[in-house]
Amino acid sequence: MKTNEFSLLGSELGLTAYGAALCGVVDGWPLTLINNSANHVQLSVDHRRDAALVKEINAVLKTWGGKVRGWNGNVMTLSGPSRKKMQGSAADYVRFCAFTLGHAGLRPLDVCPYCGGGNCDAAAFSKKGYQAVHYRCLQAEAGKAHSKAESNRENGSYLLGILGAFIGMLVGTIPTFLTVVYMQMEYSVLFALIPICAYLGYKLFRGKMDKAALIVSIVMAVLGVFILNFEYLAFLIKHEYGLPFSETLSVMPELLRDGEVWAAIAADSLQEFLFSALGVFIAWRLISGTAAGAAANADAALRLAQPFGQRAAYNGAANQNETE
Ligand SMILES: [Zn+2]
Repeated sequence: MKTNEFSLLGSELGLTAYGAALCGVVDGWPLTLINNSANHVQLSVDHRRDAALVKEINAVLKTWGGKVRGWNGNVMTLSGPSRKKMQGSAADYVRFCAFTLGHAGLRPLDVCPYCGGGNCDAAAFSKKGYQAVHYRCLQAEAGKAHSKAESNRENGSYLLGILGAFIGMLVGTIPTFLTVVYMQMEYSVLFALIPICAYLGYKLFRGKMDKAALIVSIVMAVLGVFILNFEYLAFLIKHEYGLPFSETLSVMPELLRDGEVWAAIAADSLQEFLFSALGVFIAWRLISGTAAGAAANADAALRLAQPFGQRAAYNGAANQNETE
């Protein structure tokens, strides 16, 4: 489905965009629409997978070219409709899905993912997609995420973080160094470990979790490639000339002063830098899961919350103060 068609579908059904998906409550069902080749509709139902129900639902959805695509735990994913078998608009199909599930005796899952209680009054993004929750639990969750981010902002230290990242980076060079020394092989992919270990070191030493974590990981990724090459160099010198390790070390400062050595390493290490960049990318994904990221996600979940169920006690996210 084209992006503009998809957002039109969203406004027709009163759904809100969340990344590339749409979410909201349709005919009493909290659901997520995913715009991909199969146009998935995802809902949480009050039953676990049941072969007889799948058969029954499929028999009905088939008329639109849809079917049960997945049913893991309480999360059901429906696909369709197919262009050939459309019997109305895409919005009609989504309502038809909700109707079909209800007709098969299923109800929206009414168990709050945070406290496990029933009688939910809101629908929101939580651990397993857009589903029924207690609004107060959602707020409490956001509050917790914020205080965690807050305490990291207050107690985190750049200096300790950088120290941790440096140690982590050195640890990250060990696997590559050992494979070279003992197997005479270089696996470039191991270079990805350098920034990942640097990031983990940063975190372990309670570095402040903000953009600095990423910047420090990038700097350590570059530095790590150089250090690893100097480790090789030291190893080769020791190996070739049979120098004792202490003397090898005493040669190194001289090499370090030589700009040409640095330039040669940089030119030789393109592939190593590439894999190191891969590690930065992975570390970056980990960083997005930090305290500040969790707080931002919790805020987004609050913004996207909608009334749900009989109790629907609160009047929509717009009237609620965010937990700032
Ligand atoms: Zn709850």
